[in-house]
Amino acid sequence: MAEYRQAAWEEPLILEYRARGPGYVVSGPDEDIARRVGEYRLPRSRAYRESAPRIPALSEPELIRHYTRLSQMSYGVDSGPVPLGSCTMKYNPRIALRYSYDQRVRALHPLQDDETVQGLLEVMHELQEWLKNILGMDACSLHPAAGAHGELAGVLMIRKYHELRGSTGKDEIIVPDSAHGTNPASAAMAGFRVIEVPTGSDGNIDWDSFKAAVGERTAGLMITNPSTLGLFEERILDIAREIHGVDGLLYYDGANLNGILGHARPGDMGFDIAHVNLHKTFSSPHGGGGPGAGPVCVRDRPVSGGARLPDLLPGPVVVREGRRYKLKWPGEKSVGLLRAFQANTLVLVWAYVYMLSLGARGLRLAGEVSVLNTNYFARKLLSLSKGGYSMPYGESRPRKHEVVISCERLREETGITAEDVAKALLDSGLHAPTIYFPLIVREALMFEFTESEPKEVIDAYIERLLEIEETARRDPEKLRKAPTRTSRSRIDTVTANHPRTVTPTWRVERLRKEGVLGPLR
Ligand SMILES: *Cc1c(COP(=O)(O)O)cnc(C)c1O
Repeated sequence: MAEYRQAAWEEPLILEYRARGPGYVVSGPDEDIARRVGEYRLPRSRAYRESAPRIPALSEPELIRHYTRLSQMSYGVDSGPVPLGSCTMKYNPRIALRYSYDQRVRALHPLQDDETVQGLLEVMHELQEWLKNILGMDACSLHPAAGAHGELAGVLMIRKYHELRGSTGKDEIIVPDSAHGTNPASAAMAGFRVIEVPTGSDGNIDWDSFKAAVGERTAGLMITNPSTLGLFEERILDIAREIHGVDGLLYYDGANLNGILGHARPGDMGFDIAHVNLHKTFSSPHGGGGPGAGPVCVRDRPVSGGARLPDLLPGPVVVREGRRYKLKWPGEKSVGLLRAFQANTLVLVWAYVYMLSLGARGLRLAGEVSVLNTNYFARKLLSLSKGGYSMPYGESRPRKHEVVISCERLREETGITAEDVAKALLDSGLHAPTIYFPLIVREALMFEFTESEPKEVIDAYIERLLEIEETARRDPEKLRKAPTRTSRSRIDTVTANHPRTVTPTWRVERLRKEGVLGPLR
C-alpha cells in the first residue's frame, strides 16, 4: 500500500488498491434463514454474475483509513472559517443534524400515505408558515431542490402569469449587472430575453438606465436585495412601482437573507415572488453540490379569471384541514412538478430545527451579528490598509451580509491579483473568499463571515491580508508561488478548465489500460 502514498497527502483511489483475496467474509445464512428465504422466489440464475467482480479487497481498518484520509484532505466549516461571499457558509448546528437524521425521518418513503406521515407534514407546514412570515409572503411551496431551481420556478410563474392574463409580447426580464449568474440563466431558461441594467457608483441600480429598460415588453424584474455587493437597494419601492406600472412582477432572490433577517421583508418591499436557500441562510450543510432546498413563496395577487398567484406555485404544497395535514398536488394553473416528490426532506427538517432552536429573536440576532461582522471587517481592513485594498460602490455605505473588497490598486502597483491573495490566505490555514465575483468589481475579494465567526477569526483575516499587502510590495514572487503548505499547490486554472485538456478520470483510464478495470459499456 505504501507504494501508492507518494506524498504525505497522496491518497490512491480505492480502485488502485490491489486485490488480495476477500477482505471481508460474509458467512452464509443460517439454516433457519436459508429455509425462510427459500420460500420466496429468488432471482433467476441469469441475473447472477459469472465471475467475481474485480474490485479491491480491503480489510475494514484499511477501508476506514482510506475514507478518513480523504476526509482530512478536505476543508469545511467544521475545520475552519469559510468566508465565501454569496455562499453563507455558516456553522451547521449538530442539534439539527440529530433531528434530520433521526430514523423516524430517514426511514419514511415519499409514496407513503399522508395519514401515515402527519408529523413530517406538520413540520413542513410549520416551515412554510415560518418562511411566509420571514419573507412577508402569503403562500409557500417547499418543492424546488435548490436556489437556482427556486428561481426557475419563479420565472416560470412569471411566464404563466402573463400567459393566463393573455398578455402577449411580455418577453423581457430586467436583471442588474451585479446579479448572481443564476438569475440571467434562469430567466433565459424560461424563454425570456435578459435586459441587463448597470449599477450606479453609489451601489444602487442606475436609475436612468432602469427607467429606459422598463416598458411594455417587461415581464418582470429579478434582483437580490441586499445586492451581491452587500448593499441595500435604496430605491426598491420606486422600482416596484415602475415594474407594477407595466404589469410586471418582481422576483426576489433570497439566497442570502442573513443581512435583513427579522428586519425587512421582500413582501413589504413590493416583491411578488421570492425564493430562499435553506442551505445558506438556514444552516443546512452545503458546498458539495447538494442536497439543497430552495422554497419559493408568493404574494396573494389576482392573476385572471379567479386564479391567484398561489395557484401557480410548483409541486405539492402542505395544507391543513382541521387537525390533519395533507399534500395538495399541483392543479392545472400551476407550473407543475419540477422534480419528483416534495423536496429534499432532510434539508427541510434541518432548517426547521435551526429556526426553532434560535426562535424569531435569535434569527434576528443572527442577522445582526452577520452584518456587524461584515462591517467590522471592512472598516478595520480599509483603515489599516496602505491603499492596496478598496471597497468600490457606495464606499461610505454600510454593508449587510457581505462585502466586496477590490485589490485592483494592489495589482496595478505590484502585479499581485485577487487570485494570488486568495492563494496566499490558504497558506495560513484560512479559506479564501469568493474571487472575481460580482463581475462588476475588478480583482474582487468577496467576504461573508456570517454570524458564526468570532472576532478573533476576523482579526486573523485582517492581519493576514495586511501582511499579504506588504509582501506584495516587498517580495511578490513569494505570493505567486502560494499556496505551498496545502495538499495541492497552485493549479493551472486554464488547463484545468479546458474541456480538451482535462481528464477528470485519468486514474480510472490508466487502470482500464492496465486491464485492472473492464472496458466501458
Ligand atoms: C447561491 C446563490 C444562488 C443559487 O443557489 P443554488 O442553491 O446554488 O442553486 C442564487 N442567488 C444567489 C444570490 C446566491 O448566492
